[in-house]
Amino acid sequence: MDSELSNDTQDMVRKRERTPDDPGESSPDADRVLELDGVTKTYGSETAVDSLSLSVHEGELLTLLGPSGCGKTTTLRMMAGLERPDSGSVRLDGEVVADGTTSVSPENRNVGLVFQDFALFPHLTVAENVAFGLTDATDEEIDEKITSLLDLVNLSAHREAKPDELSGGQQQRVALARSLAPEPAILLLDEPFSNLDVRLRVEMREEVRAILKEAGVTAVSVTHDQEEALSISDRVAVMNDGDVEQAGRPESVFEHPESRFVASFLGQAGFLSGRYEDDAIETPIGVFTPQRLNGLSEEYAGTDLDVLVRPDDLQATVVSEREADGHIIHRQYTGPSFVYRVELGNGDVVHCQHNHVKELDIGKPVTVELDADHTLAWYPPREDAPEGTERRAEAPRTQ
Ligand code: ATP
Repeated sequence: MDSELSNDTQDMVRKRERTPDDPGESSPDADRVLELDGVTKTYGSETAVDSLSLSVHEGELLTLLGPSGCGKTTTLRMMAGLERPDSGSVRLDGEVVADGTTSVSPENRNVGLVFQDFALFPHLTVAENVAFGLTDATDEEIDEKITSLLDLVNLSAHREAKPDELSGGQQQRVALARSLAPEPAILLLDEPFSNLDVRLRVEMREEVRAILKEAGVTAVSVTHDQEEALSISDRVAVMNDGDVEQAGRPESVFEHPESRFVASFLGQAGFLSGRYEDDAIETPIGVFTPQRLNGLSEEYAGTDLDVLVRPDDLQATVVSEREADGHIIHRQYTGPSFVYRVELGNGDVVHCQHNHVKELDIGKPVTVELDADHTLAWYPPREDAPEGTERRAEAPRTQ
């Protein structure tokens, strides 16, 4: 398919498919607390992080999001000084703290760490845990600090309690207070909610975000949970295969994913095979105007495109076989809604989300209608797809 595109257009396509940082989110150098520049880390023959560049801006909460093994933890550990990059550099507050030859140790970097298991000292009280890293302060200063931090994390009443007398959420707040006590330039949180049960996790997300914002601290968090990343972060960096595939505001990466990978990783994604011809986009569910596609230029006229559609963009209606666009092949009940998987006549697979009262039978012929009041993301056909299969939709990924 790419043979139909000029070399310049193919370059644009590649750029579109892979953008290391959201250009719309760039900020002045002075605003960058932490900068990773072309950082690479290998373990034997395994490249865990591959020439990754990313900046963390003053006061923001940035989340590294991606599937298991994509290099999130290794990236966080290099930020902390727990791992040393093979090449590239890490800058903290403008100073190089690691490159291919040197690495400042974690205790000599101005970073705070919150571990998955909170790592509290069981024999120390809450106040003693919080005070643990405050070595260069008078007793009075330490006491004042403990008071203000316990107030911040709403644990003043538990000052003398031991960790095992606290709930999981309270232990997490102690861990946060302890990491904030030395006033780090940046706080690093490794899967901070993974040790909490599902209900508490949702509650703590909001609470932790509120605490970080009130403290005004710059923070980086790691997760593979897309809902968590989208709901707590100022920016999300979606990682794939050791590098950042796209970074930007949660709304920006969700609504305008720059690659199929990002589109598929953030929620359910279906791709409609389209053809841009005669000022119209032909798809298996009907013809769209080019204006419906985000940023589509005439340069792509006469080419094939894949159009991203999410479950809430589509509605299915049962019709006769003769009128049908496809058939329902799967039904998922989520409580408030049903999500129907529909296989279209050309083999594309899309999802349609309906209110929980609209129950349709598996196997029924349906038409699928676009019901979206936003522009749709689109992608040039895959360069690497085997001949004859390049127009088939990718299997939608679910979280
Ligand atoms: P997860 O979400 O499962 O924690 P991740 O995205 O955090 O995954 P990393 O833990 O950074 O991924 O691992 C990236 C790759 O590097 C993986 O293939 C992993 O097996 C490998 N790796 C990480 N640490 C080591 C190590 N100490 N020795 C050998 N290989 C490692």
